Amino acid sequence: NALRAAAQNLAKQAEAGVPTIFDKIVKKEIPCTSVYEDEKVLAFRDINPQAPTHIVIIPKDRDGLTQLSKAEERHKEILGHLMYVATVVAKDLGLKDGFRIVINDGVNGCQSVYHLHIHLLGGRQMKWPPG
Ligand code: IMP
Repeated sequence: NALRAAAQNLAKQAEAGVPTIFDKIVKKEIPCTSVYEDEKVLAFRDINPQAPTHIVIIPKDRDGLTQLSKAEERHKEILGHLMYVATVVAKDLGLKDGFRIVINDGVNGCQSVYHLHIHLLGGRQMKWPPG
C-alpha cells in the first residue's frame, strides 16, 4: 500500500546518501534536547515520546547504517558502543527500575527514520508483547 511504498522510498533515499533528519540534528541544523554526546554518538529526547523518558541514540556518522539489517563486520564496534551508551543514559536519567531498548528495522519494523537508532524508553511499566 501507499504507506509501505513511502517507507521504502525513504529507505532508498537514505541509502543514496540523502541527509536524514538525524544527520541534520548531528550538524545542528535542527535543534534537539541532547542528554548525552561523545565523539561517536549523540542521544536526545524523542520529539513524540512514547514513555515519560524516551531517548533516541544515534551514531553521528551513519556510515551505511541506514537500518540495523545493513550492519556489516565493521559496524560491530559502534553497535556495541550505542548499546553501552543506552545503559549510561538510563543510569543518568534515573531509570533504576528498568527500561526498554528498541530498534525498529524496515517497513515491517515500522522504521520511519533511515539512520540507525536505538530507542530508550522508561519511566513507566512496559507491556509485552509490543504492538
Ligand atoms: P523510528 O520510527 O524507529 O524510525 O523512530 C524515529 C523516531 O524519531 C520517532 O520516535 C520520532 O518521534 C523521532 N523523531 C523524528 N524527528 C525527530 C526530531 O526532529 N527530534 C527528535 N526526535 C525525532
